[in-house]
This record gives sequence, structure tokens and C-alpha cells, in this order.
Amino acid sequence: MIDLRSDTLTQPTEAMREAMYKAEVGDDGRTNPNGVGEDPTVYALETFASNLTGKEAALFCNSGTMANYISLLSYCKRGDKVLLSRKSHIFRSEKAPFMKGLFGLIPVFYEENNYGIPDLNSIEQIIDSEDIKVICLENTHNYYGGTCIPLDTLQEISLLAIKKAIPLFMDGARIFNASVALNNSLKELCMPVDSLTFCLSKGLGASVGSLVCGKSTFINKARSVRKLLGGNMRQSGIIAAAGIEALQNYRVRLMEDHRKTRMLAEKLRLNSLVTIDLNKVQTNIITVDFSQSGIKSNQIEKDLFRRGLAVKRMDESCIRLTMYADINKRQISEAAEILNKYIFEIS
Ligand SMILES: *Cc1c(COP(=O)(O)O)cnc(C)c1O
Repeated sequence: MIDLRSDTLTQPTEAMREAMYKAEVGDDGRTNPNGVGEDPTVYALETFASNLTGKEAALFCNSGTMANYISLLSYCKRGDKVLLSRKSHIFRSEKAPFMKGLFGLIPVFYEENNYGIPDLNSIEQIIDSEDIKVICLENTHNYYGGTCIPLDTLQEISLLAIKKAIPLFMDGARIFNASVALNNSLKELCMPVDSLTFCLSKGLGASVGSLVCGKSTFINKARSVRKLLGGNMRQSGIIAAAGIEALQNYRVRLMEDHRKTRMLAEKLRLNSLVTIDLNKVQTNIITVDFSQSGIKSNQIEKDLFRRGLAVKRMDESCIRLTMYADINKRQISEAAEILNKYIFEIS
């Protein structure tokens, strides 16, 4: 089976396993007089993350979902309005922030183009007329196929947010992919936002964890929200150690994923029924659109699985292929062959 469902499928490297074995640990659920957790390895990871993103502080969390929840709850209380993308992971997959019985926040959506780039006029209009407590961005944008929001757009949105004194938050689960694809440093891409989250457990290859990064006051708040949500971990330096390892050589790592993604896209033989928007293949994700074939994506998912290729359905008629470290060139050729045969059969 060639499994291209997600980059969360990465296996930890030998170096990560070794770092985990050797990690010096402490009780991260307790804070020392400086207000930071008592696990030295977690603290080292948090310091590494805040330096990389150019923020004052960072907080290690068990998942990206948890990190996003903590961020939103650090800015908002029940009934507050959150401005975000209709197709954002937070709204479509995580849901809890907007469930009445859970966090009870109110979603407001900005317009965006086909690549998930937010429309500036739409944001400006909304924040002029409504009481928005936080603006959320997603970079790269998962549901649009791993597309990047470029630096100048981030800066323009930041100016709008500053004018209204509204915090700007970025779900940067794959911000490292954006940094590599856009050829901007991580710091540059994080500068326009007040806070962000990123995942260690996707293309970076670690097994567990995400970080929230932002101002010290915000991270202190986030630390107390993490505890409230049951997100405090104890000797979590065990897993943080793999995260530190993952952040060492991410640029080379992810450039390789992007190169392999383009290699796969180029091997596919498409037609008028099965298409790819190559402009969307910017990072490690390929979205294949079967809408003209009339076959539904849950059927396609099953058909391909039976042929030895696991993919993820994104909506009614699109599937997603995601590249990551453990996929080699032979598997890329095989995946392309399986897909090409299938496309030929259904056409
Ligand atoms: C994967 C992902 C998350 C959530 O991360 P988990 O660690 O799986 O909870 C959040 N946002 C985006 C855009 C993602 O792709």
C-alpha cells in the first residue's frame, strides 16, 4: 500500500528516537518562578520555536487542534466573533470553537479567491462593521491544496488588523512548507501576525506536538488555558526532544517533499474528466479534481485503495495526495501508475 493520505504518516527518524531516549525531563505541568514549565527539553523546544518564529515565547501542546483551541480561547470568550476562512481547518475539521455546547464562539467569514487568499476589501468591510475579536489565517491553506498566502498579503492584512487593534492569528500547521515554497524566512512570514501555531507532526516528521507562539503575555494566558483544557503534560520532554530534532534541518527536508510532489504531479496523465490545477501544487499537496468524471470521491477513495493507493477525499469530487519523507521515488512511480490506469479506465 502506498499511503498518501497525509503527511502526519511520517515515522520518526533514528535521530529523533535517539534524542527521545536521551531527553532530560521534568514535570512540565508545574512552572518555575519564571513562569515556564519545569521540563528542560520542552523549554528548549519552546525557546527554539520562539526564536525561529521571532516571537517572545512559545508553548508546547499535544496537537495542532489543541494549540488552535488554546489560541482562540486566549483571545475570546463565549459569544465573541472570530473572522476566518470558511474552508479553514479550524472551522471545517475542528468545529469545537463554534459548537454552542462547547466554546460557543461565532464564526464570521471573509471572502477568498480560489487559492485561499483572503480578500482584503472583504476583511476591511467586516472589521469596520462588526465587533471581531480575532482574525484567523491559514498558511498553507489545507483545503485549497496547500497553497501559500504570500508575505505582501500577510502584511496588508496586518495593517488592517492593527488599524482596528484586532489580534491577527495564523494557523500555521504547515507554515514551514510556506516558508520553503515562498522562499521567505519563517520570521518574515510570522512577523505580520500576533500569534501562530505550527505542527511538528506533519512534514517535519516528529510524532507528537504543536507549538503556540506569540507575545509573553499571550503565552502566559495560553498556558493557563492549556491547563483548563487538560492539555498539561508531565515529562513531555520525551516527545519534545523529537520536535527539536525535527526543526534542525526542516528546509532541506521540506524542499525534498515539494520536489517529489511536483515529480508525482508531472507523471500523472490527466484529461478533460480528471484535472489538477498545477498553480495549486505549491507545496506537498496535490488536489485531483474528478468532478467532470461524475464519480464521487468516496468511491474513488475505495477504488484506489483496492488498487494499492490510499488517498484522502477532500470534498464531493476531489481527492488529496500528500507527500512526506517516507515516500520514495519508486513509490511515486507506482502511485502515478495506479492513478493513471484508473483514470484511463474511467474515461
Ligand atoms: C493538521 C492541521 C491542524 C491540526 O493538527 P492536529 O495535530 O492534527 O490536531 C490544524 N490546522 C491545519 C491547517 C492542519 O492541517
